[in-house]
Amino acid sequence: MSLNYVFTIDGDWDEYFSTRLSDDERKPAKARLVSLIDSELAMSAAAGGKFIHFVHTSPLVRDFFLQPEFLALWKKAEASGGEVGVHCHEEELYKAWHYADLERMTPAITNMAEGLKNSGLTPRAYRGGYMTFSPGIIPLLESHGLLLDYSCDPGRHMVKNGALVSDWRGAPSNVYRLDYQDHRRPGKSRVFEVPLGVYIERQSLLSIWRTCSRLKRRGETVIVSVLAHTYDFASWKMRLKIRAALLICKMHGSFISSAEALEKIKEMGL
Ligand SMILES: [Zn+2]
Repeated sequence: MSLNYVFTIDGDWDEYFSTRLSDDERKPAKARLVSLIDSELAMSAAAGGKFIHFVHTSPLVRDFFLQPEFLALWKKAEASGGEVGVHCHEEELYKAWHYADLERMTPAITNMAEGLKNSGLTPRAYRGGYMTFSPGIIPLLESHGLLLDYSCDPGRHMVKNGALVSDWRGAPSNVYRLDYQDHRRPGKSRVFEVPLGVYIERQSLLSIWRTCSRLKRRGETVIVSVLAHTYDFASWKMRLKIRAALLICKMHGSFISSAEALEKIKEMGL
């Protein structure tokens, strides 16, 4: 019995989410992103270096984060116990959502996963932008060795302009093996779901404390993720809050890597 967290940072920047800016203005500024990701690396020391940076890919910026300046950062993260994962924002912001369209998801996931691997990195994790997920992508995740999915936010039901964006109603709140037909129930695929446990931006520190205490009281082995975003690192207040949140988590449990999560899952007999 143990409470385990995987510290995850979604590699998104503020401008990406703006509907007032032109597509060109929504693109990331390289020097700024490098500096924010450097701050992530410094922060990850509070979790023993263990964290996943989810590398953003979207129709707006395909392989921007596979440029040498970023690859150097991903290598630095792996060298200190961290890792990179694949983060697909396959959408036209608030207008069209392509997360269930395999003709679009196949090249998006393949190019990012293989791009990282061809550069000597070892991605094991996937998370959909806006926590989107379609069970149709499970065979794709399996074929690329992305055997841990972090898209589940139990209970989430996001509808925008009449379109269903993300549906995790009824999903388990502890790690489970994904079902090929329905991502919200345990099944027989080779991909494991690590649900979101702590959402640092959305929760107060008191609420994070209560979440951690509740998870610990479950009296079973628990594996959940702790979520922050790259844009959080622009604010000293958010950096302070993330540091405090990580400390609260550590008072109740331990941070683990994806590789350690896979070992624990094996021990759990899932
Ligand atoms: Zn995102």
